[in-house]
Amino acid sequence: MCGVLGIWGRSEVAADLIFGLTTLQHRGQDAAGAITFDGSFHVKIGRGLVSRVFEDRHQERLRGTWGLGHVRYATMGSTDVEDAQPVHVNYPYGLAMVHNGNVVNFAEVRENLYTEHHRLVDTSNDVALILYTFAAALEQRDLRALTFDDLFSCVDATRRAIHGAYAVICLIAGRGLLAFSDPHGIRPMVLGVRQTPKGPEYAIASETTCLDYLGFRVEGDIGAGEAVFIDATGTVHRHQGPREKPAFCVFEYIYFAREDSVLQGRVVAAERERMGRALADVVRRAGLRPDVVIDVPASGFLFASSMAQALGIPFRRGLAKNHHIGRSFILPTDEERRRMVGLKLNPIRGVLEGRRVAVVDDSIVRGTTSRRLVELLRGAGAREVYVISAAPPVVSPCVYGIDMSTTAEIIAANRTVDDVCRMIGADAVVYQELSALRSLYGEISCCDACFSGEYPTHVDREALDDIRREKEDAGR
Ligand code: SF4
Repeated sequence: MCGVLGIWGRSEVAADLIFGLTTLQHRGQDAAGAITFDGSFHVKIGRGLVSRVFEDRHQERLRGTWGLGHVRYATMGSTDVEDAQPVHVNYPYGLAMVHNGNVVNFAEVRENLYTEHHRLVDTSNDVALILYTFAAALEQRDLRALTFDDLFSCVDATRRAIHGAYAVICLIAGRGLLAFSDPHGIRPMVLGVRQTPKGPEYAIASETTCLDYLGFRVEGDIGAGEAVFIDATGTVHRHQGPREKPAFCVFEYIYFAREDSVLQGRVVAAERERMGRALADVVRRAGLRPDVVIDVPASGFLFASSMAQALGIPFRRGLAKNHHIGRSFILPTDEERRRMVGLKLNPIRGVLEGRRVAVVDDSIVRGTTSRRLVELLRGAGAREVYVISAAPPVVSPCVYGIDMSTTAEIIAANRTVDDVCRMIGADAVVYQELSALRSLYGEISCCDACFSGEYPTHVDREALDDIRREKEDAGR
């Protein structure tokens, strides 16, 4: 999971890029980067949080009115800065690119770029593959007379070569800003506009939260197979390329996106409350009568509070959170995640002592957080602990850019709910039902492959093995 931002402005964009990236920080904390264009490219990339990577002097150095920004969570490739984004090339045009997602046929595309186009991709960063594939398509055109149709047909050629999930923003030196999504529209991307005394400016970002903060009015999603090009005059061109059945990542609603974002026209906070109410039905049917419902802050809050309300059971704050520590899901190793839970969350004894406690989390992926939480809650006097997951059991790896890409990492893969309950030491485990989730998102047509194993794109055993190997090679 990553966050992307592109700004087509009429004044210097560095400050907006950097501050805009901080609103996407929840999408990745491994690295951050930005590139601007004022006749030349200016780049700053570093490891860690946006606030750590960018200092005041970088704002002055990143000159130009067009720019791209990226926050990275390494799902493929290493956490090293060499694999951070944006990436850029100078031939056949100056091209800079950021993306969110994952290329499923990485090995095939890399081989093809080498044998057909003599381009050696010496990084495990898949945005380089998309960039070089797009550049190779552009190279076939008459660059002096490049039309919008040419540009969009190069995007379609890139789509034919690259399989997987991608939300891409590309800065074409002197020409404009281009954004395109994969044919299923798996990862989110939205377009916004703001009026200025010099004329309209445009921004493209992973989430509307970023556009809200920067003062851009949301124009809409860049959906399955769509491309948008903002040319050098500020004219917006749209193109509908090859489109498959939409498969928007349902996990965005469950966990990834910020609750104030609007995805596919739906406010994330309201979606989480709906899921909480659906959870209440499952808890009721399981015959559980908790004395108190608590959330795993902060991502469990909306599920827990709406579930408690639907059940008529008190909702209390039972875990105090240290707000100065990052999200535990997006830390690279299991041991780091386990240690982080205790550092981040501490039980509030008076709420828990002698009670049957239902603790609601967004999901149970590896089980590390849940196991540690059960220990903490029992240690604080809880009589019984029920772990409630707002997501159905995660049973299959995500191959589209989320870090649960090997079956061995997933606690519910090839195990029953009772197995999971035993492994995390809880008195009961309750999951959201996949059928309930599907009925909530039937109209949007979402990807739910990590819960169902039904991938929207072709994924074979070889692709899964490639991803596993890449991850091992990267030492993660
Ligand atoms: S497999 Fe799961 S996490 Fe991955 S894109 Fe599909 S719904 Fe999202």
